[in-house]
Amino acid sequence: MGGVAAAAMAALKHRRTALERVEKFISETYFTDCNLQGRLFGERCPPAKLSYFQTPRRIPYDEAVVEEFRPAEVGESFGPTWETCWFKVELSIPPAWAGREVHFVWESDGESMVWRDAQPVQGLTKEGEKTSYILTSSLKESEPHSLTLYVELACNGLFGAGKGSMIAPPDPDRRVTLNKAELVVFNRDVYELLVDLEVLLDMAKLLGEENQRSFQALYTANQMVNVCDVTDPSTFPTAHDLAVAIFSQRNGESQHTIHAMGHCHIDSAWLWPYEETIRKCARSWVTVVRLMERNPELTFVCSQAQQFEWVRSWYPGLYMQILDFVAKGQFIPVGGTWVEMDGNLPSGESMVRQFLQGQKFFQEQFGRICSEFWLPDTFGYSAQLPQLMRGCGIQRFLTQKLSWNLVNAFPHHTFFWEGIDGSRVLTHFPPGDSYGMRGLVEEMLKTVKNNKDKGRVNHSAFLFGFGDGGGGPTQKMLDRMKRMSDTDGLPRVQMSTPNQLFSVLEKESSQLCTWVGELFLELHNGTYTTQAQIKKGNRECERILHDVEVLSTLAVAQDSVFQYPASQLQRLWRLLLLNQFHDVLPGSCIQLVVEDALQYYTEIRRTGARLQEEAVQSLCRDLLQPKAGSTKSTLVLNTLPWERTEVISRPEPDGTETLALVTVPSMGYALVREPLLPSQPVSVMKQDGSVTMENGVIAVCLDMMGHLTSLRLLDSERELVPDGCYANQFALFDDVPLYWDAWDVMDYHLETRKPVTTLLKPLEITLAGGLRGSVRFSLQVGKSSTLTQEIILDATCPYLRFLTQVEWKEAHKFLKVEFPVQVRSTNATYEIQFGHVQRPTHWNTSWDWAQFEVWVHKWMDLSEHGFGVALLNDCKYGASAHRNVLSLSLLRAPKSPDSTADIGHHQFTYAVMPHRGSFQEAGVIQRAYNLNFPLHAVPASSAQCPSWSAFSVSSPAVVLETVKQAEDRPDAVVVRLYEAYGSTVTAWLQTSLPVKEAMLCDLLERPAAEGCLLLGQQGLRLSFTPFCVLSVLLVLSQ
Ligand SMILES: [Zn+2]
Repeated sequence: MGGVAAAAMAALKHRRTALERVEKFISETYFTDCNLQGRLFGERCPPAKLSYFQTPRRIPYDEAVVEEFRPAEVGESFGPTWETCWFKVELSIPPAWAGREVHFVWESDGESMVWRDAQPVQGLTKEGEKTSYILTSSLKESEPHSLTLYVELACNGLFGAGKGSMIAPPDPDRRVTLNKAELVVFNRDVYELLVDLEVLLDMAKLLGEENQRSFQALYTANQMVNVCDVTDPSTFPTAHDLAVAIFSQRNGESQHTIHAMGHCHIDSAWLWPYEETIRKCARSWVTVVRLMERNPELTFVCSQAQQFEWVRSWYPGLYMQILDFVAKGQFIPVGGTWVEMDGNLPSGESMVRQFLQGQKFFQEQFGRICSEFWLPDTFGYSAQLPQLMRGCGIQRFLTQKLSWNLVNAFPHHTFFWEGIDGSRVLTHFPPGDSYGMRGLVEEMLKTVKNNKDKGRVNHSAFLFGFGDGGGGPTQKMLDRMKRMSDTDGLPRVQMSTPNQLFSVLEKESSQLCTWVGELFLELHNGTYTTQAQIKKGNRECERILHDVEVLSTLAVAQDSVFQYPASQLQRLWRLLLLNQFHDVLPGSCIQLVVEDALQYYTEIRRTGARLQEEAVQSLCRDLLQPKAGSTKSTLVLNTLPWERTEVISRPEPDGTETLALVTVPSMGYALVREPLLPSQPVSVMKQDGSVTMENGVIAVCLDMMGHLTSLRLLDSERELVPDGCYANQFALFDDVPLYWDAWDVMDYHLETRKPVTTLLKPLEITLAGGLRGSVRFSLQVGKSSTLTQEIILDATCPYLRFLTQVEWKEAHKFLKVEFPVQVRSTNATYEIQFGHVQRPTHWNTSWDWAQFEVWVHKWMDLSEHGFGVALLNDCKYGASAHRNVLSLSLLRAPKSPDSTADIGHHQFTYAVMPHRGSFQEAGVIQRAYNLNFPLHAVPASSAQCPSWSAFSVSSPAVVLETVKQAEDRPDAVVVRLYEAYGSTVTAWLQTSLPVKEAMLCDLLERPAAEGCLLLGQQGLRLSFTPFCVLSVLLVLSQ
């Protein structure tokens, strides 16, 4: 009666007091003695017995439970960081709780997994708003009232253990406190009212005073408080009915539809090591499985084949449950890649393997490949990705990271993205600009309001669930959205799938705009440089796996006994691909992760070297075994698809090395007995402390500090170095970003430039010429770092090489090397995956100057018509070209999240190459490959001097990048070629392998319909459009 009376006399409702009245009624902080929130839980009961055992290792359940457990108490702290505590929790549910919903509540600062009957059953983390394991929704007499649970508590939070701030290096002494461990009665009817009131309150607040629905929501909430007697649950249904009446006022036909999907971004390593991620996956996904059991409408999208593989091998029981929900279409594998990799730095072939290994796994495990690429969180997206996606069975792409742009707001949320070759993919950025939504009214409104493609499409994605460190969706998120499914004033919200969303976007796509070229992230530009050893490991291991695949494929063709090391290569590739994760290769991870990553590179180097040697032994057995009448010689192998004439170091029997000029055919070998004589030897001359070097192609002059004071291309009249400038000038910048230390280099760092001017050892000649001339000098860099450089000019070589060693001990400094050159162009060219892009050299617009620091692969070039200069490198990725100065970014020194980042010894090489004609005609692309893929020299002894080429390509515009055995098909070889100039061209692929049949295939190696190729005298005829990537399946006759 009281409620009715209150309603009848209602006249004045002050907006603010009404709002705050409802807020207090559901507050977790205020008036919990008398408000609704205080009634959420009923009776409580502590565990009958609580004991624990602690270990520094992450061990399986079976190993843990047989350990000796000691008594533990609520309120105790455990640690330090990264340790694991296993708790044995013996529970006895009071019989008086019959008919009630009973939860086991566990609250601690760490991340926990509840185990029951030797199976993981529930992930619990306070940060992820999960503290309850539901034992029963209505306790029955027949249920066991006594049970034993184990709780595996990791002494780290969802976001690791940063000391003082999230991204600070981990605090090694962090302890986690167990705040709560008990059985409770859960009042579901109270919970439902709390969710009703929260949503109404948000509608009242966020729809605003100009919106009448705001007031309806407010008055309804106020009335609910009026009718609700917290001590009398029989009043709750009346209150709930008032809410239902508001929520069920429907929208009009044309209302925007939000496609909600459960999501849980789990960084494969970041502020925690790889090993912890395995447990994060299990904790997060078992929670999703529990939610799906209670909410059959819940969908959950899940990326990264590697994480599925981890759960498959470490938690087989959980994996079986996941497979059930995959089959039901609720647990939805997405993405198609091995990990959510960095979108800039992996090579073209690495990106192909991300998809190849990923899709292969998804096909094997779930019976289908993914049709969308899923990369919500990485630091920019290569302009080659659309073609690679299309080649891997993918036509749809989802990300949101460009919402982080510091300078320019990206103009679309739904659009076609077109890559450098013209391939297009339908791309969607969830307009709420997040992949970790909570299902709040505010987020729904933002999703509609923020959408840049209003009027073009009427559907958008909404990814809800705690992320980055795992966690995932909660019941409350689902319950909020259930109330909003079709409520006038709010967008429509439905559980959906990527396929449903993209299918309707495809239908609506006629009005969509197209964005051409890279999706450049205007932030995190320091990630091209941070953790130089990881970058170097990546580049080197990409080369090693390339070489092992080429040589092993040739060995199989030459030696029928040789076994292609397919499974070992798959294992090594997967290690490399894992390290390309978007917080590892970018260098934005903690020291523990760096150590793991470097160890994986060591493993790839060690096993790669053995596999390479085995392949060479099989490929060239006859040449390597001494025979009667044989003489000492050198076997030189070339894994690149063009003939090379280069100076090499030749191993001598006594362990020394001598230089030799050799010519080796494309993708093959030569046996060298007598080295070639250069048409012009290198001359080196010293005069007044400066040195000139010349090899008939280029001439350089260096001063005492190693500056290049002159660089000339001998067959042109051009001097490259402007008057009064130095090339090969080192410069040090202050490098203090606003927050994201390892990630960001800010525009203002450019204002702090200081040239390196302290000489330690003046320039001296180290090799006097002939086949090779070289000089050496040392500089002091900053307060205490040193740099020693050897500058090398080889006979016949068109570039000057800078072999650099740095002892780096800086804090928040950025080292670059600069090449001011007399070349004028408004654009510079940068190599990317299987091609190149141009970026401006000026800062006209905000889009131009936001690219003050960009990424590059093996080369960059600044050219006028007919003349230019290229800068090559063997392991660097950061660069810039402003006006006429080319800069290569060498080393940074951020302190978070790894305070030791980049401190220590570094070795890297870059090279400068002036050229006539365009960079294409001058062979810059090939020279950059040569710098990165040295010839292999092996001591040999043979009577004859054969040379052999397995593959060659008739056009220099076409690069044969990859030669490998076909996946799961030992009788076939896959070769991958791309058009590198940006031209339309026809090329002949020649091979000396016994090819029986040839056909085009996609990047997943599936033969193309009508892809059969004619085998002619000249080889295989292949047609390319600009930057086109072609894969060919060659079936061998054995
Ligand atoms: Zn991430």
